[in-house]
Order: sequence, then structure tokens, then C-alpha cells
Amino acid sequence: MIVMKFGGTSVQDAKAIDRVAQIVQGRLADRPVVVVSAMAKVTDSLLAMGKAAGSGDRKTALKMARTLRERHYETAGELLGTALFTEFHGDLGADFEDLDELLRGIGAVGEITPRTYDYVASFGEVLSSKIVSAAFVARGLPGAHVDSRQCLLTDSSYTRAVPQFDETNERLRKKVKPLVDSGKVPVMGGFIGANRAGITTTIGRGGSDFSAAIFGAGLNAERIEIWTDVDGMMTTDPRLCADTRRIKVISFDEAAELAYFGAKVLHPATVLPAVQQNIPVYVLNSMNPTCEGTKITARAPRCSNIFKAIALKKKITLVEVASPRRLLVHGYLKSIFEAFDQHGVAVDVVSTSEVSVSVTAETNEAIPALAADLAKIADVKYEGRKAIVCLVGENLRETPGIAAKVFGILENVKIRMISQGASEINLTFVIEEDDASEVVRRLHHAFFAEADPEVFA
Ligand code: ADP
Ligand code: ASP
Ligand code: MG
Repeated sequence: MIVMKFGGTSVQDAKAIDRVAQIVQGRLADRPVVVVSAMAKVTDSLLAMGKAAGSGDRKTALKMARTLRERHYETAGELLGTALFTEFHGDLGADFEDLDELLRGIGAVGEITPRTYDYVASFGEVLSSKIVSAAFVARGLPGAHVDSRQCLLTDSSYTRAVPQFDETNERLRKKVKPLVDSGKVPVMGGFIGANRAGITTTIGRGGSDFSAAIFGAGLNAERIEIWTDVDGMMTTDPRLCADTRRIKVISFDEAAELAYFGAKVLHPATVLPAVQQNIPVYVLNSMNPTCEGTKITARAPRCSNIFKAIALKKKITLVEVASPRRLLVHGYLKSIFEAFDQHGVAVDVVSTSEVSVSVTAETNEAIPALAADLAKIADVKYEGRKAIVCLVGENLRETPGIAAKVFGILENVKIRMISQGASEINLTFVIEEDDASEVVRRLHHAFFAEADPEVFA
């Protein structure tokens, strides 16, 4: 059994879904379970609708919902043909009626809660999974739609709910495994789950990768395939650099660091369930399915390059907290991190000195209130428009003098913070966002102009 996850661009229109059907057809012997994201950009647009309705602008929200309805009908119509689409139309229509109803409700209250955001966002994966499943059946593939909310049990931390693995695994074995055993291809939406009361939750943006790993681990899959719109994990984001290379093999640890520090190709949480069961993960291109992609495995082979890849994360705020008393009294650090926690601000990079603590976080609306709270115990400054650059590679552990080499290349760049993770496989630093793309290009040129053919394509 294998899990095949197709991201937003891989299901963005009828042509893309048709390609998905062909790819799955070619893997039938491996007994696939298919996980899909919402069609490209749909989650963003659902959240925008929710926001519009929440601000009382019902008209805009409903207008956006109509556009979304048309796009899904058009895609389904193209995939299914008139006769099948007529049969299927009612099912999709009922979902869109529910969405309209929901938006009217939010508009009437003039407020949207995280719980309601999750319900609104869930429509993307509900709809795409139904359409993909119907498209499979129309092409003679034994597709069987499974509502992921009946399998993926989470807690109630809406918008980033935490999976409850034991019970989820139990449900997967009860609901999904028998379908696979009877020759069906289950088609499930990623990203969505439900809490014990059956209320819809989501597991965080980009979470369909995570769903694939949860389902793969729960069903003891032989491998997990993450199908996307690039040839695999590349030496850096191909949108930044023209001469990126495909990484043929990378370790779980390296992949996790890269994902955490912005390599959007894989959700950071994805690797954990897979690593715990030693299930290999592949990143593959649905637009170029014969390409071998990237294999993520427990251990990476030897590599003559120091680094495997460079990740970049923009929209970072740097928070500097200085103790007015010029010493770190007992409990001081604790109270700082408690404040971050209370405001729900996730910390990325941390560095401390005797008198100050520097912390980075993704820029978000909670930071001003957090800073105001911190100001009660220390002097606080915060600055947006920063970026984190992260160089990753297992060889970092054993090679001396690397930091000197890296910062030598960046001589004239203003570096705000430096950190080498405890895992010893990443070298991370914070710079101005405006310098970021140029810095990545320079580093990429320096470290990947020559690439070990065993590891890079
Ligand atoms: P999906 O919709 O399939 O989940 P995403 O947009 O989430 O796809 O992730 C794929 C994108 O990740 C690519 O189009 C690419 O621009 C970006 N990306 C960032 N860093 C990397 C990297 N190191 N290797 C490959 N892709 C990367
Ligand atoms: N559709 C969700 C998102 O856009 C989940 C995913 O695509 O992985 O965040
Ligand atoms: Mg993604």
C-alpha cells in the first residue's frame, strides 16, 4: 500500500486532474490511497470570503462563493461529461448551498471565530476530493471517496489542530484499509479533520502533506509520495534561482530543517510520522511524472558538498528583549517565552547574550500586543521585514571553518542574528528582507556551482 498526495497545482483544473488519474492508474498495483489538497488558491479564497463575511460584507463573500462554485462546476463538467455531471451536480450543489448558508450566518453575526474559519476552509478539500474521486470513476479507476473528517481525529485547537494518532490510526484501519483490500482507491481530502464532537478542524496551512504522512503511517504504507509542481526538493526555491539542482536523496533530518525554515515544498510536520516508522517519502512532479524526484530516507548517502540546500523564509519580525537590570535573573527567560506562548506567537530562531534575548517570529498581528506585554519586564524593540536564511547539510557537523566561508561570501551584508541549530546540521542567520534573494543567489552560486553527481541531478 502506498499514499499519493497531490497538491493544489496538481489538481488545479480538469487537465491537471486528468494527469492525476493517469499517474494513479500507473500505480494501481501498489494499492494507492490518494490524498488531495484543495484546487490551487481555493483555500486562500475561502479564507478571504470568511473574512469578508466576518466584516459584515456579505455581498462580496457570496460573490466570491459564486465564482468558486462556477470554477468547480466547470472542472467537474469537463472531467465527467454531461451525463455523469448531471448525476454528480446535486452533491456538489449541496456543499455550495451549505457554504452560502454559512457565509450568510457569519455575515449576520459580523464576526468570524477560528472554529468557523476552519469550517469555511474545509470546503476546499471536501470539494476537490469529491471531484477527483468522481473523475477516477469516470475513467474506470475504482475511486472511493472517504470523508477525512471521519478518520482524522484532532483536538480542538482550530486552525492548527493536533492529530490524535492512536484513534486516527484505529479509524484508518476500520474505514480505509478494507477499501484498499477490496481493490478500491480511497480518495481523501488533506488538511481537514474533526474533533471528538465531530466539529470540523484543520491542521494548519499546507497541512495536506501532513495528512498524507499521518495516513501513510497509520496504514503502514510502503512509501508516501508527495506530488507537486517541481521536480523534487531542489537546492533552493527554483523561483529564486535559475540554476537550482534536484536533490536525489536527502535525510529526514535535513528535509525537516529545510521545511521548517521555509522550503515550502514540504510541510515541516510531514516527516515526523514517516520517520517514526521509517517510511520513505518521495517528492515528485505531477507535470513531469517520469522524473525520479527526491527520496527522503532515514540516512543520507555521503555527499561531497557541504550543504544539501538553502531555505529562505521571508516576512519575519525580529524581537529584541533587553533586561534593564543588565543581568538575566532567574526565571527571566521563562517569562519571556511564556509571553510568546500566551500570545500564540511561534518562535523560529533564538539567540541570547548576558543582557538581551533576540527572537524571530513570523510577522503577525499578535506581535504589537506581545511587545506591549514584554515591555512590562524589559526593554523591547521589534522590527519587521526580515528574512531567515538557512543552510542545511549533514556535513556541517564535521567540517570546520564553514561559518567563516559563508560569512566571507556575505561580507557586505548586514547580518542581524546567527544561530547554529542544536541538530548541528543547519546554519541559520537573519537579514533584511530586501537583501534576501540576492544573498540566496550568491550562496547558491558559491556552494552548488559544483555538485556531487551521486546526490544532485
Ligand atoms: P503544493 O501545492 O503541491 O503543496 P507548494 O506550493 O506547497 O505545492 O510547494 C511547492 C513549491 O515549493 C514549489 O513550486 C517551489 O516554488 C517551492 N519551494 C520552496 N523551496 C523549495 C525547494 N528547496 N525545492 C523545491 N521547491 C521549493
Ligand atoms: N489547502 C490547504 C492550504 O492551502 C492545505 C494544503 O494545500 O496543503 O493550506
Ligand atoms: Mg504544500
